Amino acid sequence: MRATGRLHIGNYFGALANWLEFQKKYDCFFMVADYHAMTTGDLSQKTLAENTQQILLDWLSVGIDPAEATVFVQSAVPEHAELFVILSMMTSLGWLERNPTYKEQRQELGDKYTGNLGFLGYPVLQTADVCLYKATKVPVGEDQKPHLEMGRELARRFNSTFGVNVFPEFEAILTPTPKMLGLDRRKMSKSYGNVIELSENPDSIRKKIQKMVTDVRRPRKEDPGHPEDCNVFYWHQLLTPGERVKEIERDCKGAILSCWDNKNALADRVIAWLEPIQRKRRELEANLDYVNDVARKGIAKAREVAAKTMDEVRQVVGLWGKIDSPTAAH
Ligand code: AMP
Repeated sequence: MRATGRLHIGNYFGALANWLEFQKKYDCFFMVADYHAMTTGDLSQKTLAENTQQILLDWLSVGIDPAEATVFVQSAVPEHAELFVILSMMTSLGWLERNPTYKEQRQELGDKYTGNLGFLGYPVLQTADVCLYKATKVPVGEDQKPHLEMGRELARRFNSTFGVNVFPEFEAILTPTPKMLGLDRRKMSKSYGNVIELSENPDSIRKKIQKMVTDVRRPRKEDPGHPEDCNVFYWHQLLTPGERVKEIERDCKGAILSCWDNKNALADRVIAWLEPIQRKRRELEANLDYVNDVARKGIAKAREVAAKTMDEVRQVVGLWGKIDSPTAAH
């Protein structure tokens, strides 16, 4: 996840929900992508290090468990930058320029934030992130899928160019909500200002939800509603138990439940769901030494694995690499 600030509910439903499951089943590496955050960020803001810490706090407060998974920071493992350089030599510009997420973001964010080489190469760096750990499953939201498709091609190209199977096949794994809609029914995204953060205070959550647009075909409570066209109902489907959702649907269609009451019920639900997460966050905020220690240990483990992969990569490519152990085979 990019170090662009505190995480929102879309990050949870799109990715973290899978991470919490995966950490119980697989050997997981969870990475704060601070280089990636630089591709579209305002570099003069100097908030990168702070953002990285906020993400670590969010992860630990939702239940990412450092005893189960390796939690680390991209820039603290120099091999990411190194493999990125090597992979970029075998990346076709056409792949990058055709990437739909690239095109969409170019349009949304404009030249100032996206007209740089690093942003064009975003999927190449991401491929390095995956390949260094020889990962096979990458739990992400839908917007990342095209990057990973390209990454698969790139990893294959590396293997076939050098005639060795250094990198295994990998695939994107999506949750049932790979593209969660925000308060305004566009994709939830910080750049659209339509998010609720996992650490957002209850007053702010309620005010934002109260302003949500509901069913435009139901101007008065007496009019029957169309839940299928209502963003508040969509959010209830994610956050409210199934039985209650059925009652809401019935009472909305039957013009019994008002949109206002329904929005307040949703706000109650979101606030209650986030309460234990926020409680845990407050504990962690009072113990930043622990959070930093988690990252330190994770970084040490990630470095070990990444260094091993890079030794193999240098060997097959024919690079000298580290001066104390030239790759003699070439
Ligand atoms: P990012 O900040 O773009 O690195 O996002 C972190 C993770 O959350 C990535 O796996 C994204 O695909 C995912 N994500 C971001 N926004 C959403 C959303 N609105 N719905 C689902 N997943 C999302």
